[in-house]
Amino acid sequence: MIRLQHKLALGVALLGAVAAVQAQSVLNIYSARHYQTDEALYADFTKQTGIKINRIDGKEEELVERIKNEGASSPADVLITVDASRLEIADKAGLFQPVNSSVLESRVPATLRTPNWVAFSTRARVIAYNKDAVKGEWVQTYEDLANPRLKDQVCVRSGSHPYNVSLGAAMIAHNGEAKTEEWARGLVANFARAPKGGDTDQLKAVAAGECGVAISNSYYVARLMRSTKPEDQAVVSKLTVVWPNQKTSGTHINVSGAGIIKSAPNRESAVKFLEYLASDSAQAHFADGNNEWPVVKTAKVKNPALEALGDFKADTLPIGKLAATTVQAQKVYDRAGWR
Ligand code: FE
Repeated sequence: MIRLQHKLALGVALLGAVAAVQAQSVLNIYSARHYQTDEALYADFTKQTGIKINRIDGKEEELVERIKNEGASSPADVLITVDASRLEIADKAGLFQPVNSSVLESRVPATLRTPNWVAFSTRARVIAYNKDAVKGEWVQTYEDLANPRLKDQVCVRSGSHPYNVSLGAAMIAHNGEAKTEEWARGLVANFARAPKGGDTDQLKAVAAGECGVAISNSYYVARLMRSTKPEDQAVVSKLTVVWPNQKTSGTHINVSGAGIIKSAPNRESAVKFLEYLASDSAQAHFADGNNEWPVVKTAKVKNPALEALGDFKADTLPIGKLAATTVQAQKVYDRAGWR
């Protein structure tokens, strides 16, 4: 009897030790996605799993460089970033290992993941125009924006920015390289000014009448729509938003995504975290925090701006296929003079 009690006590002590080790589990996230709303997600993950998150925030290029330099001894477990072209750069640099999760395979549509990284939210690249300057029927597709009748009307950010590179990659996949280069040349010829600033700056320039039409990610439009600042509301009142290419390929879609680092010291925690991001509640929060759409069908978002923008036909090009032509797209833009 005494011996049995002894064994039990030992067992309990061992269980306690295991629990203590588990409580100290950590996950090291390198993040190039800086939205305050993501903080609540990290806290919730720790609450649910007991896994402590150490996070290093930085610019994408810096984080990729850092992981490369740290090599096999890198403490990084997960890299989170935005845009397929950036995920492709990290993947091409050999940073990721296969994710291998049946949970993610069942929850995230196959077109929104690759073997080495997974998308967790989507955003659309939309056209916004000022109806005082251009006719709606002139700006229904990305291809329309290269039509000479829009000379001196187009505002868009740099051709080296990933959002535009990915758009070019999608166009190469749909129309081929030669046609995409011709398009880029036509677009450049229609610029109202040399590319400068971010997407929001282009939207403001359209509202101000500096140009007639711009290309922007959808969440920048939604952000202005949800802003209570009178100056932002004034911008919104001047804009008409178009879902491009509804009769053809559908509107170009991009993503936020994450991959597991090849040398991840805490692989198990990393998989758990990615699976957590694909849970219904995390999905709604992750996407809505930046006015994006969840990738998991069952996740519900109540976002008045996204609802006001309405439904649209999205491009169904697999994100991995799109990523594969991003380098080619950059070269096309360089040749076309889209700086
Ligand atoms: Fe952005």
